[in-house]
Amino acid sequence: MRRTNTCGELRSADLGKEVCLQGWVRFSRDHGGVAFIDLADRYGITQVVFDPEALPAGVDAKRLEETIGTFSRESCVQINGTVRNRVEGTEDARNPTGEIEVLITEAELLNRSKLPPFELGDQKEGVLPDEDIRMKYRYLDLRRTDMAQALVFRSRLVHIVRQYLEQNGFLEIETPILGRSTPEGARDYIVPSRIHPGTFYALPQSPQQFKQMLMVASMDRYYQVARCFRDEDSRKDRQPEFTQLDIEMSFVDMKDIQDMMEGLVSTMWKGLYGEDLPTPFPHIAYRDAMERFGSDKPDMRYGLEFTKLTDVVRDAPYKIFQNILAEGGIVAGMNLKADIAGSKVGRNDVDRYIAYAKKVGLGGLTWMRCEDGKLNSNIVKYFTPEILENIKVTMGAEEGDLLFIVAGPWKATYESAGFLRKKIAEDLGLIPENEFQFFWMDQCPMFEIDPVSGKYDAFHHPFVLPQNDLDDDYVGGACFDLCLNGNELGSGSLRIHDPELQKAVFHKLGLDDERIERNFGYFVEMLSYGAPPHGGIAIGIDRLCAILLNRESIRDVIAFPKNRRAISLLDGSPSKVDDDKLEELQILSLAGDLDIGDIEEPMDEEN
Ligand code: ASP
Repeated sequence: MRRTNTCGELRSADLGKEVCLQGWVRFSRDHGGVAFIDLADRYGITQVVFDPEALPAGVDAKRLEETIGTFSRESCVQINGTVRNRVEGTEDARNPTGEIEVLITEAELLNRSKLPPFELGDQKEGVLPDEDIRMKYRYLDLRRTDMAQALVFRSRLVHIVRQYLEQNGFLEIETPILGRSTPEGARDYIVPSRIHPGTFYALPQSPQQFKQMLMVASMDRYYQVARCFRDEDSRKDRQPEFTQLDIEMSFVDMKDIQDMMEGLVSTMWKGLYGEDLPTPFPHIAYRDAMERFGSDKPDMRYGLEFTKLTDVVRDAPYKIFQNILAEGGIVAGMNLKADIAGSKVGRNDVDRYIAYAKKVGLGGLTWMRCEDGKLNSNIVKYFTPEILENIKVTMGAEEGDLLFIVAGPWKATYESAGFLRKKIAEDLGLIPENEFQFFWMDQCPMFEIDPVSGKYDAFHHPFVLPQNDLDDDYVGGACFDLCLNGNELGSGSLRIHDPELQKAVFHKLGLDDERIERNFGYFVEMLSYGAPPHGGIAIGIDRLCAILLNRESIRDVIAFPKNRRAISLLDGSPSKVDDDKLEELQILSLAGDLDIGDIEEPMDEEN
C-alpha cells in the first residue's frame, strides 16, 4: 500500500479507515506490552499503536513486535493500520489528530536513524541545544514542528506575493548573480574569473541597476524574489545572503509605489490571517521619527517619546549643556510617568540606565524626579527655578514622574536615546505583543554629511531622485522606508532618469569623471537612451517572516542560514580550496585553516 494520508490529516471522521502512513518516529513509549509511537512528518503528528490484543486474526503479532522494536527515534518508517478512537480520557486536544490513533497491523522500517544529537519533540523554552548544533544538523532541526511551520508559512507568503504581482501585471525577471559591484553600502563578495585571471565578478548586493535597466528596456513592471549578498561585519541578525522582494515600476510617483505595496501587504495579510489590514499606512517624516522616537524605524506601539528641550535649557548655567549647545547639539527629554517611574524605576534602576546610556554612546544621562511639585535631582542647582519650571511644563511632568534628559550631536544622540527608549520599554514590558503596525518613514534627506570629513554620503543610494537643487543647503531625496514594529522592512524611491543629474549626484558624492566612467559609465549611458521616469522598492522577506512569526532571528525562517559568525556549520563553508584551484585562478593561497574557535562572537546589534 502507498501512503494514504499525512501524519497531520486523520480525524474522527476517518474511523475504521485502512490507512498507510509514512513518517519519522518522534517519540515512543511502552505501556505493559502496548507500544505508542508519535509518528511525525511536516504536516503533523499521529499516534500509532501496537496493541497485540486488538490485532485482527492472521496478523503475526510476534513479527510485528520485532519490526516495531527496530524503530529507533527519528527512524523513517511505514505503518499500515486502522483508524480507531483513542481510549476515553487520553485524547489530546492540542493536537488536531488527537482524537484518534492508528492500530498498527503492518510495519516496515524504511531507514533507521542514528541517535539524534538533540531532542526533536516539542521543546519547552530553553531546552533547545546550542544553535550551532542545530545548524550542524539542520536537516534534523528543520524536522521540528516549529521550523517546519516557519518554512510552510514562508512558502505561502511568497506564493501570495507572486500571485498578487502577476495579477497586477508584473513580470518576474531574473537578473545576474555574477556582475559588477552595486553600491548598497556594504562590501561585495567577489568571485574570481578563471578565464580572465586577475579580474572579479561581484555578487549583487541588490539587483538595483539591473532592475533600472529593465525599465529602460520597457519592462514597465518588474519583480523578483531576489537573493542579495552583502559582506558585512557579523552583526546580530544579518546574513551574508538574504532574500528581497525586489520591485520596479515605470511612470509612477511615490504614492503609486506605496499604494501598490499596501495592496500587496494587505492581500498577503488576508491570505495568511483572513483579516483585513487597515490601509493606507500612516506616514512619519524622518526628522520626526528621529526626534520623537530616536530611530528612523521607530516602534510606535508604545510611548516614551522624546520632547525637545534645546531652547528651554539654552540659558541654563549648566556647563555640560552649554558646551553641547555651543557646538550645535541638542537637548531632549523623556518622561517616565509616575505609574512607571514610581513603582518600577527606583534609584538603582536609574544608575543602571545611566550605565546603559554610556554603553550605547551617550555622554551621560541627566535625570530629575518631580517631587512635591518641583523637579529634584543632584543637578537642579545648576538650573534657575524658571528654567526648571519650564522643563516641567514642556515635559508635562507631574508628581512622581521621572525625566531622563540626553544631550549631544543631533543624530548620534537621538539614535543612542532610541536604544535607551527600547531598553526601558523592554525592561518594563511596555511593548505589546501580537500588534502589527506598518508605516511609511519618508521625507528623507538625499545625503548625509560626515561630521568629521565633511564628505557627502548617499542617505539611501546614489540613484534616488533628489527633490530639489543639489546646491541647496538641504537636499531632500524621493525615498521612503516601509517599517513594521521598529524594523525596516525595506526601502524604496523614485530614481534619477536624467544622465546629467545622475552624474551631478555622483560628483556630489565625491566621484570624479574618471571614476564615474569606470564604475558607472554603462549605467549613465543607459539613462541617455530614453530612460522613463521610474521607481521601486525592495523588502526583506526573511525579516518580514521573522517578525510575523515572532521569531527572534531571521535564521529561524531561513532553511540553511549561516551562523552568527557567517559560517555554514552544515557544509563547513567558507573553506580553504586546493592550491591547484587557486593557481588556476592565479590567486595566492592564504596561510592557515579557518579556525572557527578563534573568531570573536559578534556584539549584539542594539536596534
Ligand atoms: N535596492 C534597494 C535596497 O536594496 C531597494 C530599492 O531602492 O529598490 O535597499
